[in-house]
Amino acid sequence: MISLNRKLIVCYIILVSVICTVNISAFASTHKPPKRQSVTHLMNRQSLDNNMQRIVLIGGGHAHVQVIKALNKHSRPSNIHVTLIDLQSSATYSGMVPGGVAKLYNLNQTKIALNSLAEWSDIEFICGKVVGMSFDNDGKKIVLVEVKDEHGGTTKKKESIEFDVVSVDIGSTTRLHASLPGAKQYTISTRPISDLVLRIQQEEEEMIKKQPNEVQVVVVGGGAAGIELSLAIRARWNDLLDSKPSITLIDSSDVLLSSETDACRSALQIIMKKYNINVRNNLMVDEVTSTHIHVKSTNSDYDGKITHEKIPYSHCIWATGAEAHTLSFDLNKEIYLDITNRGWIRVNTHMQSLSHPSIFAAGDCCEIIGDKKSPSKAGVYAVRSGPILIENLIRYLDTNSNTKKSELVTYDPQDDFLKLIMCGDGTALGFRFGIPIYGKWVWKLKDHIDTKFMDLFDVNNLPKYNEEEGIDTAQYDAYEAPTEQIRVEDAAKLLLRRDDDVDYQTAWSVIREMNTNVDYRKEVLRIMNNSPDIWW
Ligand SMILES: Cc1cc2nc3c(=O)[nH]c(=O)nc-3n(C[C@H](O)[C@H](O)[C@H](O)COP(=O)(O)OP(=O)(O)OC[C@H]3O[C@@H](n4cnc5c(N)ncnc54)[C@H](O)[C@@H]3O)c2cc1C
Repeated sequence: MISLNRKLIVCYIILVSVICTVNISAFASTHKPPKRQSVTHLMNRQSLDNNMQRIVLIGGGHAHVQVIKALNKHSRPSNIHVTLIDLQSSATYSGMVPGGVAKLYNLNQTKIALNSLAEWSDIEFICGKVVGMSFDNDGKKIVLVEVKDEHGGTTKKKESIEFDVVSVDIGSTTRLHASLPGAKQYTISTRPISDLVLRIQQEEEEMIKKQPNEVQVVVVGGGAAGIELSLAIRARWNDLLDSKPSITLIDSSDVLLSSETDACRSALQIIMKKYNINVRNNLMVDEVTSTHIHVKSTNSDYDGKITHEKIPYSHCIWATGAEAHTLSFDLNKEIYLDITNRGWIRVNTHMQSLSHPSIFAAGDCCEIIGDKKSPSKAGVYAVRSGPILIENLIRYLDTNSNTKKSELVTYDPQDDFLKLIMCGDGTALGFRFGIPIYGKWVWKLKDHIDTKFMDLFDVNNLPKYNEEEGIDTAQYDAYEAPTEQIRVEDAAKLLLRRDDDVDYQTAWSVIREMNTNVDYRKEVLRIMNNSPDIWW
């Protein structure tokens, strides 16, 4: 624990000084993975020693993959048993999915093998769906999991998994996809994200067979995911058939990414125009048929009328933002778990449920109730909460066993982060400190960050742990080599460049320096904003 605490303090210092997403890839792969245990064997819960404390992790989301790794057999206290439950044996990293759609990555590159990671950590992995929880009068706390039968068939049986503390990191579903007429039947949803590329691939195969004269893609939802997917599908299909596809992005607000600065939004407009993405604002979809998207305007015309329109389409991607899984509503009914009207699990700044101290939650599925507004539903926040969750799960058990009273630590989400939108052609657009950056170097930077993050969980990269080292919560960007500070004038010039010769490593070190050094940042931004090289 002591080494954990010390590590965490170091990690917090790193945390406040970093920008957004990960890592540690330089370890030698000398670790021999533990022998694989079958799920049925692992399900034999009664065999667990009564003195063991049980952590159950529901969902292998962005925060939990860090918990799995950090609480490996050698690093976790010896009286702690950890179980991970996920619907699938791998977790898809959403940051790389648009790259997967654009064929810049293959499917494997976008996945974290949860089963292998759990095996490496020597934690129990159950491939199943959590469908409920119960808190018995005798103090027994149980997670209910639906698992497929031993032969992997369709029959499902329910297993009860006991816990002392449980953590929920199950992400979200796509808003209105299940409820809006026709959406589920005719459109490709961004969630489950593991299916997104496969669904696009299926429609592509059909399209190649049919060789239609016209391909009309409509992406519904003008958030970062919808924007990125419209660019990704364009990159994928632009040269596939004789005729070029038309790509339309439908958004309900009057401007894309309204929370960004004028400079960033103006740059985005330039990019959308460059790639021929037809952006339609102020439209709300109210039905999807096999041939048309039925929309109505979100603002009335001069006569006060709401206009209706039917937009023809051949392929539709549904990217309408996050909606809570039904599980949280079920838990609200079953155990009175405190959730918001929209189904987000209400947690305090320690990531702990407001109603049930033994339940923690992280990532999209929770809403943090504190002084600040809860952060937006973005993977980066799930990632950054990982170290806090790890610490608090251990501290909670520590407190609970009355051996030592330790306070839970606080998660203070960063106000902003580096947003990177890949354009599908080896370039990307980014936003940071209210200014846009664009070019091949921005794509290289995104690829670097995402690859570093994935390297953290690739069992081939993982080290042989030394018990003395305690729990490792280092993030993807923790080991970026420090570089010499470059002059503010040169830094400003560099970030304004869009040519192919920009060294992304140097630009990345400038951005990191701007993140930690306020005076440096102000000066670089001042020079940029007064530069004749502004392109937006
Ligand atoms: C196309 C696209 C691109 C995106 N790009 C970015 C980006 O570049 N940067 C960014 O910050 N955000 C991005 N996002 C948002 C990001 O995907 C989410 O914010 C992030 O995935 C949330 O992570 P999480 O840890 O909450 O859950 P997830 O990573 O979604 O993981 C949830 C896990 O829980 C499992 N699960 C679900 N229900 C159950 C159950 N009942 N029982 C057991 N297991 C269950 C799932 O199988 C899954 O493995 C993107 C989203 C989309 C759709």
